[in-house]
Amino acid sequence: MIICTRRLEFDSAHRVMEHESKCKMLHGHRYVVEASFGASELDKIGRVIDFGVIREILGKWIDDNFDHTTILFEKDKNLGENISKITGQKIYYMAENPTAENIAKHLLKDICPKLFVNYPIKCVGIKVHETPNCSAQISDSHE
Ligand SMILES: [Zn+2]
Repeated sequence: MIICTRRLEFDSAHRVMEHESKCKMLHGHRYVVEASFGASELDKIGRVIDFGVIREILGKWIDDNFDHTTILFEKDKNLGENISKITGQKIYYMAENPTAENIAKHLLKDICPKLFVNYPIKCVGIKVHETPNCSAQISDSHE
C-alpha cells in the first residue's frame, strides 16, 4: 500500500469533561490534522489521490464542522446551549470527550469512510496536534 498525507489546520475551542486539571476549562487550539490515505495502486499519473481533492473534501468538512466552532462531549449540552445562545456559535457534539485521541478516532472511523466512499482509497491514519508539542495518532487496525 502507498500512503499520502495531507495536513489541514483549524481553530476550535473545546474542553475535556472530568479532566483533573486545567483542560476541563473551555480553551482553544490551533489544531493540525495530518490525514493519511492509502491505495494499493496509484492512478494513471502516479498518485494515491490528488492532495487538492483531500483539501476539497476533508478540508471542507473540517471548515464546515470544526473550524471556529466549540467541540464538546454530548454530555456537555448545557454548556453548548449557553455558548450558542450568547455567541451564535456552532457547537460540534461528539459521542466521546473531545480529546485529540477521540477527535482522531472520530475522523478515521466515522467521517473519512463516508467522505471518501467513492474513491479507491482508504483513510489509514489520522494525527491530531493540539499544540506543537502534543498530538495523538490513530492507525487503521486492519493493516
Ligand atoms: Zn485542549
